[in-house]
Amino acid sequence: MIALTPCVRYRTDMSEQAISIHNLSKKYAGGKQALSDVSFDVAQGSIFGLLGPNGAGKSTLINILAGLVMKTSGSASIWGFDIDAHPRNAKASIGIVPQEIMFDPFFTPKEALELQAGLYGVPKSKRRTMELLKAVRLEDKADAYARTLSGGMKRRLLVAKAMVHAPPVIVLDEPTAGVDIELRQQLWDYVQELNRQGVTVVLTTHYLEEAEQLCDRIAIINHGQLIANKPTRELVGMAREKAVVLTLDRDVTSAPTHAAFEKAELVGERTVEITYNKDRMNAGEVLSVIQGLGLGIIDVTTKEADLEDVFLRLTSTA
Ligand code: ADP
Ligand code: MG
Repeated sequence: MIALTPCVRYRTDMSEQAISIHNLSKKYAGGKQALSDVSFDVAQGSIFGLLGPNGAGKSTLINILAGLVMKTSGSASIWGFDIDAHPRNAKASIGIVPQEIMFDPFFTPKEALELQAGLYGVPKSKRRTMELLKAVRLEDKADAYARTLSGGMKRRLLVAKAMVHAPPVIVLDEPTAGVDIELRQQLWDYVQELNRQGVTVVLTTHYLEEAEQLCDRIAIINHGQLIANKPTRELVGMAREKAVVLTLDRDVTSAPTHAAFEKAELVGERTVEITYNKDRMNAGEVLSVIQGLGLGIIDVTTKEADLEDVFLRLTSTA
């Protein structure tokens, strides 16, 4: 694959974060509160997943970063540039692959990229039109009408378009919604290649699996609120955790522990909460372990991990 390394050289005084969002809120004119007090950072060089069901506020957030939607309050900066104070630099630092495919059907891929380069003020000598088309394997289609491209080719052209000004950050808003598995894999190959070359990647999706496969870190947004933001492994681990609260037949001074438990906590004189990985054991097995330690059990309540509901909902909409 051809290099797509950003031309924008990293500044030495830049902040550590590729994107920094503080208390961002958006209420649309019709009264819909699409984002409520959202804060998070995206580390440079990472692949960051913004996960949430339809209507969660993902596109609203992305479109605020893109300068397409006006925030109601809060602040955001891209590559150290505040979107209010330095809108041009902020915009130059980010490439957006929008959720909706929108093209002028009469432009060829080559013309579409040239036009985009013009919009971003990329001088002719610095344009990389053919290089970008090669990178997304559309060099054969350079002069074809956009309307003759397949859905997959159009997506790829959108990725190339987002990279025209060589931004250090690229954002893909639900790039695989309604896209077949093969194309999905191809897209992820491009995205990972870009990331290997140093581009920070943000992608929104409502597929947990997709985010899990690709992202270093995942934030979950639901009803405009950020409900989780953790390294992928930790978050996925949480989704697999379950807990039982047991009332024992006598007081204990410490929670009975066992190697198979994720966590054991004393929550009352004779009440313990055992967290376990539901892929590895079930509640019945937890009870047997406790009984095996010589303790009697008077009462049992099961508890789902907090994220469970969200995850179930997210994964079932896929
Ligand atoms: P997502 O991308 O996570 O599916 P969106 O950001 O598109 O979510 O939408 C969040 C909420 O804001 C939804 O309830 C949606 O209907 C609403 N919304 C999005 N765009 C507009 C708009 N231009 N005007 C009014 N409401 C909007
Ligand atoms: Mg969206």
